[in-house]
Amino acid sequence: MKVLVINCGSSSLKYQLINTDTDEVFAKGLCERIGIDGSQIVYQKEGCQKEKTLTPMPTHKEAIGLVLEYLMNEETGVVKSLDEIDAIGHRIVHGGEKFTESVLITDEVIEAIEECSELAPLHNPANLTGIRVCQMLMPGIPMVAVFDTAFHQTMPEKAYLYGIPYKYYENYSIRRYGFHGTSHKYVSNHMAHFLKTRLKYLKVIVCHLGNGASISAIDHGKCIDTSMGMTPLEGLMMGTRSGDIDPAILEYIQKKDNITIEEVMDILNKESGVYGMSGISSDFRDLTEAEEAGNQAAARTLEAYAYRVAKYIGSYVAAMNGVDAIAFTAGVGENSAVIRSEICKYLGYLGLTIDEVTNHAGSGDRIITTPDSRVRVCVIPTNEELEIARETMRLVKGDKAE
Ligand code: ADP
Repeated sequence: MKVLVINCGSSSLKYQLINTDTDEVFAKGLCERIGIDGSQIVYQKEGCQKEKTLTPMPTHKEAIGLVLEYLMNEETGVVKSLDEIDAIGHRIVHGGEKFTESVLITDEVIEAIEECSELAPLHNPANLTGIRVCQMLMPGIPMVAVFDTAFHQTMPEKAYLYGIPYKYYENYSIRRYGFHGTSHKYVSNHMAHFLKTRLKYLKVIVCHLGNGASISAIDHGKCIDTSMGMTPLEGLMMGTRSGDIDPAILEYIQKKDNITIEEVMDILNKESGVYGMSGISSDFRDLTEAEEAGNQAAARTLEAYAYRVAKYIGSYVAAMNGVDAIAFTAGVGENSAVIRSEICKYLGYLGLTIDEVTNHAGSGDRIITTPDSRVRVCVIPTNEELEIARETMRLVKGDKAE
């Protein structure tokens, strides 16, 4: 089956056309600066160089129209007509409590996603635009919505309720939802498969460490806790997001700097995390390089980062009363042996021993603990687009979830 995966942001759009029978990517790319001067489309056919073209894209309609033109281009395209595209999978950021799994898109589903927009005002409306434009340009092709939050909907109340008056949950749906669910689901299942077992037999912790970062505890196949909350600001320290802080700090900064609450939120989202703490960069490659060159700010930031991840892992070991396997994924988790090593230094009490040779060498799926380690630690590259394509195929074929 050929599935077009669409991840529509407010001014950007990422796409991949995937063969779900072989997991092969026919073509992928992105449209940037939609509705802004200097918009550009990037297109890459499998095995070929990236093509970058500056071209006006006043709205998402032109952007998706261009993507389809590129996919059908006589010379560099990968399909002859739109009829070859069997289904479209849309990444949707917030599914609230309404969506516990992926769904075929209907008018009712669109309405329900709209109702969740209040919880993700920057993301859900953009995701919906992607759906509407696809309906317009590719009528009749079945579409599926895959939610970032759905995988975490199995969390029990004790994990998702905040310690604030219960009426805020009842009246405003304020609770922890969690994000990166597609990645946590893909990586946990893939790790079980890689370890030649089934997820339902394991206690697993997935560390998705990218620009955004989150950890989840998956107990015998069900997510029971995750570090992001009502929004993706909670939890670990990230590239530019603060993660957990004392909420009283917001008012304190607001008064001290005489700024608005919106400005404080901007600081917590865009100027904090490892970027804010180090004053150097949000990119972990820059930080690691600076640390190696003897920069103290980089060193204390990376130390604080690893410490925070290790504390979350410890709390999830407690929540599950044990752990069998830990996965590292996303940009930092997949590529930084040094950070993996720093985090795992705190985990010796679990009987976990890192094999520094495999930790520093190799690529792709791999085990980085010694054979006698009581807990296995793996590096599992994430693939959210493939997970969306598989979910789309499953629903279009009418298969049941595992
Ligand atoms: P997102 O999808 O959340 O934007 P990614 O999963 O692509 O993020 O991760 C991006 C992060 O991965 C960047 O901060 C980058 O520094 C980090 N990263 C990529 N390669 C390396 C590396 N070799 N060492 C350390 N960090 C890396």
